[in-house]
Amino acid sequence: MRTPLIAGNFKMFKTAAETAAYVVELRELLKDVRGVDVVIAPPFTALHAAAGAAAGSAIGVGAQNVHWERDGAFTGEVSAGMIRETGARFVIVGHSERRTLFGETNATVNKKMNAVIAAGLTPIVCIGETLEQRDRNETLAVLDRQIKEGLDGATGEQLAAMVLAYEPVWAIGTGRNATPAQAGEAHFHIRQRLKQWFGLESSERCRVLYGGSVKPGNIASLAAQPDVDGALVGGASLDPKSFLAIIRGAVV
Ligand code: PEP
Repeated sequence: MRTPLIAGNFKMFKTAAETAAYVVELRELLKDVRGVDVVIAPPFTALHAAAGAAAGSAIGVGAQNVHWERDGAFTGEVSAGMIRETGARFVIVGHSERRTLFGETNATVNKKMNAVIAAGLTPIVCIGETLEQRDRNETLAVLDRQIKEGLDGATGEQLAAMVLAYEPVWAIGTGRNATPAQAGEAHFHIRQRLKQWFGLESSERCRVLYGGSVKPGNIASLAAQPDVDGALVGGASLDPKSFLAIIRGAVV
């Protein structure tokens, strides 16, 4: 039985002070919530403040990106070890905004995933098709490629401990979420492939989140899909009360 996970991706929103205040409020709101894991991923500059404010609570903190090298002449980049030092324990890898706006590929996703695991952190690896790919009936083939190339070399044990996020690109930040049936079909396919490539036990332990315009009003029907293990939430995670409603809605 997989514990659902709700992860909030703040994108480029909230200062360190705003993030700390958010965590203080969320801690209070989550006091009587059980049966669901919660992670927030603020900007790099807020990671240390977030981890400090979350210390002693069940709220996990994650970064939104990472560089694969341990250190070096890579102006503007941040390594997994530096992220770990802030107190963060998760890293989002290969978000579609990184892929489309910053040129990330399955190959760079793979290097980042390896760096995150090597640092003892948990990757949240994002996959998902564009609208054009869906219209051309390429969704499942795209997912296959992203899993095969992005997770290349991962062991069954590593797969079991990591998190995947199926995020159809056409649903991110658009207000248009996948229907539960569309999400269910993609998640079923992903689980089958994980089983085929990493073995039954690992595939059953790996959590696969849905992401794309998740809101308090649609989380329950998405989370009710058998292979959906929670959600990666962008816009609706920015307000602690709406994030709480999503967290509660994920407990099926
Ligand atoms: C995201 O940023 O991963 C995301 C799913 O955004 P939104 O919930 O705003 O669509």
